Amino acid sequence: MTTSHSTSAQLKALDRAHHLHPFTDYADYRQQPGRIISRAEHITIIDSDGREYLDGMSGLWCCNLGYSQPEIVAAVSEQLTRLPFYNNFFQCSNQPAVELAAALAELLPEPFNQVFFTNSGSEANDTNLRIVRRYWDLLGKPKKRLVLSRQYGYHGSTIAAASLGGFDFVHGQFETLPYVKHIQAPNWYAYGRDSSEHDFGIAAAQQLQHAINQYGADNIAAFIAEPVQGAGGVIVPPASYWPELQRILDAHDILFISDEVICGFGRTGEMFGYQSYQSKPDLITFAKAVTNGYQPLGGVMLSDRIAEVLTSGGGEFGHGFTYSGHPAACAAALATLQIMRREGIQQNVKERLAPHFQAGWRALGDHPIVGHVRGLGLFGSIELVRDKASGERLGRDSEAGAVCRQACLDHGLVMRAVGDSMIIAPPLVCSHAELDELLRRARAALDATAAHFGVSG
Ligand SMILES: *Cc1c(COP(=O)(O)O)cnc(C)c1O
Repeated sequence: MTTSHSTSAQLKALDRAHHLHPFTDYADYRQQPGRIISRAEHITIIDSDGREYLDGMSGLWCCNLGYSQPEIVAAVSEQLTRLPFYNNFFQCSNQPAVELAAALAELLPEPFNQVFFTNSGSEANDTNLRIVRRYWDLLGKPKKRLVLSRQYGYHGSTIAAASLGGFDFVHGQFETLPYVKHIQAPNWYAYGRDSSEHDFGIAAAQQLQHAINQYGADNIAAFIAEPVQGAGGVIVPPASYWPELQRILDAHDILFISDEVICGFGRTGEMFGYQSYQSKPDLITFAKAVTNGYQPLGGVMLSDRIAEVLTSGGGEFGHGFTYSGHPAACAAALATLQIMRREGIQQNVKERLAPHFQAGWRALGDHPIVGHVRGLGLFGSIELVRDKASGERLGRDSEAGAVCRQACLDHGLVMRAVGDSMIIAPPLVCSHAELDELLRRARAALDATAAHFGVSG
């Protein structure tokens, strides 16, 4: 199949010659060129060779409503015709930005009534650091400077966001911000198998208390966390974890930033991930699914406590992006939220899709190379092992993940590998039958992976 100007082979050659991709081993990509995605329909993506794949990753956690939403297209197109751009600096605003700010304030429960727009999750987390610092300065507590974060958290790729993130290999490639400190991830399978999930959840939360004891609450500005760590491997924490974390946060005057870039907008079965765990954020990061991936948009929702201080005086807040509140991006988000509300997307995930999907996903636990299964709402992860009891891996570190990822593609399914975990996050508009087909292909890929490593069932 050819695209408008080039054959598939020409495109792949040009891609390798000129295009440096995010999070890619460039030497490796020269040997193993990728796929050019040309078209998509509903939950299927189609590459430049005409091969079709069920998209088990919703794009990159963003196309929660799938790829066929003409209302969003129409909203963006209409907005580009009327007002393609105007900035929100200098006492100006635009209609979609205003309407989206109001729509988000209505969507979120109290006390979230104010929003600051960015173009991405990374920029939103940079903005969080600026807001947190400003908040404590305005309150006359300038010593509160440190920000606590977690290993294997993902918060984006600007210098600040990558510092907040918890990946050592990334930290090794630049100078991280000195005021960000990391605590352990609540990954029972990796760190806690010698205790019960409940006890491990408490112990993992108490890592926050240890950090507070070490650095002093007077020096700690904020704690940032994803309700469920997504890019770190869909690390669903034990049920005991969040209540204990919240108890510790409440006991010390530390702001809590809930990074909802993946968990927000229905992924966990609630509208926002923090609602699945009854935690109490002061700031909320959003991006990705807010526009269904149709336009780049992110932002921070501020609780009244923060907004009141920020708007109480103290001069200009010296922060913002040219495209903060871009009219076309905001129009896409408004259309997305409207579809979500009208179709009852979040309720459908909670009541129908998640129970069905999680039952099928957990059933993969009986496969000979699956050592552990995690999941919540409409996402999940499985650990690939050779030996279920010891957790011995199938090959070199991350080798089984790479093999299984390719086996998924061979079976027409996009799943992602994080080390030796396979992760899935299907669009929230799948039918039961489509979820069953995703799971059938996932099992076939597991069979192929087991065969590759000589494990029989
Ligand atoms: C993707 C992601 C980000 C970064 O968003 P970008 O739009 O890629 O900058 C931040 N936080 C979480 C939890 C994410 O998954």
